[in-house]
Amino acid sequence: MQQVKHGSAATYESGKCRCEECRAAGMQARRRQRQRRRERVAAGDASHIAHGTWAAYVTDKCRCDVCRALKSAYMKSYRSKQGPAQRG
Ligand SMILES: [Zn+2]
Ligand SMILES: [Zn+2]
Repeated sequence: MQQVKHGSAATYESGKCRCEECRAAGMQARRRQRQRRRERVAAGDASHIAHGTWAAYVTDKCRCDVCRALKSAYMKSYRSKQGPAQRG
């Protein structure tokens, strides 16, 4: 008989248990990771951000001139009937 320790992120990730406790633990672990990343960015460690990309704008929530220009350029092409330049 398998002994499963519920309420741990490891059980959620490796054991693939999706009970309420394990889901909460897994979510909490993920949130902590994201928070740590955000804290690093807030602390000024933004050197890894590739400005002018969606990753910088959406994930890193950068609002520098370059990233804002990307967004406005996208919105402009989105609103025009032509759509974005690339097709596919
Ligand atoms: Zn569980
Ligand atoms: Zn930026």
